[in-house]
Amino acid sequence: MRREYTARARIALRNPGPVIAEFCDHMIEHNAEVSEGPAGPVLRLGAVRAAFTRDGEETLVDVAAPDLEGLYLARMSVASHILEFAGNDPPVIAWTGDGGEIVRPPNFQTLEVVGCRTLTPHMRRLTLAAENVARFAGLDALHLNLMIQCPEAVEPQWPHVGSNGVIAWDRPELRPLMRKYTVRSLDLAAGTLDIDFVLHADAGPGSGFAETARVGDRVGVVGPGGGGLVDADWYLFAGDETALPAIARMLEHLPAGARGKAFLEVADAAEVQTLTTTSKVEIEWLFRDGRPPGTTTLLMDAIRGADFPEKDERLYLWAAAEFNAFRAIRAFARQEKHLASHQHLVVSYWRRGVAEDE
Ligand SMILES: Cc1cc2nc3c(=O)[nH]c(=O)nc-3n(C[C@H](O)[C@H](O)[C@H](O)COP(=O)(O)OP(=O)(O)OC[C@H]3O[C@@H](n4cnc5c(N)ncnc54)[C@H](O)[C@@H]3O)c2cc1C
Repeated sequence: MRREYTARARIALRNPGPVIAEFCDHMIEHNAEVSEGPAGPVLRLGAVRAAFTRDGEETLVDVAAPDLEGLYLARMSVASHILEFAGNDPPVIAWTGDGGEIVRPPNFQTLEVVGCRTLTPHMRRLTLAAENVARFAGLDALHLNLMIQCPEAVEPQWPHVGSNGVIAWDRPELRPLMRKYTVRSLDLAAGTLDIDFVLHADAGPGSGFAETARVGDRVGVVGPGGGGLVDADWYLFAGDETALPAIARMLEHLPAGARGKAFLEVADAAEVQTLTTTSKVEIEWLFRDGRPPGTTTLLMDAIRGADFPEKDERLYLWAAAEFNAFRAIRAFARQEKHLASHQHLVVSYWRRGVAEDE
């Protein structure tokens, strides 16, 4: 049985040292391990490996992964970052070896809207049928990227893989807009998944798509990307309505013995949803009551007022919200509570006045 897929790129990089160093630093931030190989750095991320060496004037990159999807992601990550870090002088990158048959990103599929439901005045649930819904099972497969077609595109634009390993488009000027969403729940037997969309003012492509979606519409997705919940005795969840789907899904998965608090900020009482958990995490709703989203300190105030457990209990803080709340909560977690990186995940899910791709 085949155990490893490999590919090589031979790149005429004019100034390889700083570009490779920047790539290594960037990947370390994403939990890669970097070691010095016999002729250059070797990066390891899970079971995926990338090794840099020199051959005369050229830089060689050898990537290896246990499956074709891992190989695709490794090739794409190397190539897209080298193109970015090389700045005004992007080199030609071409891969040889395995993976030449990958024409569509393996993590891409198109979903069909099979149901639309208003949950609350500002939350709409779309049920989408997927060819491979099992990819999104498990809390480490929490998010996906939706590809919202741009209005000018007469024919839908779907991605393919260029010879440099990076996503390419037939009409790059018409490529879809990407927006991140959470898989709220899935039904493996029916082959469907649910996404809960906040319908917000100043609607962007994501909110706009959800507002007008009809049964039969198709949308592209790539994913999953990210997720995971650390084992703990006491959890502190905090999020605004964009994080409500993620927190609701995590609460459903928590074991009965788990304790803690979940603070959920929404517009008002009409946005409250019934959440299910067998855990002893107490849910507390915080209402903006007329104040615009992204302008309050409700989440930070609630977190500051929470009764944190004794030191010998395993604590985990998970928070996601608008950028300013994210910044305050992250500073609190790191500077005031001195939580280690394995004890917290605090993420910005959106930024007031700024579209996701700005
Ligand atoms: C990992 C991850 C998972 C996410 N999961 C979900 C999810 O399950 N459901 C969900 O609804 N969102 C979710 N979000 C947030 C969502 O991606 C953003 O809100 C995104 O900006 C929405 O795209 P848009 O096209 O509607 O608006 P954009 O084009 O990005 O923005 C247009 C304008 O709307 C404003 N805006 C964006 N979001 C909001 C909001 N929620 N309230 C008020 N104003 C807003 C922006 O500040 C900007 O001014 C998630 C984000 C991340 C990073």
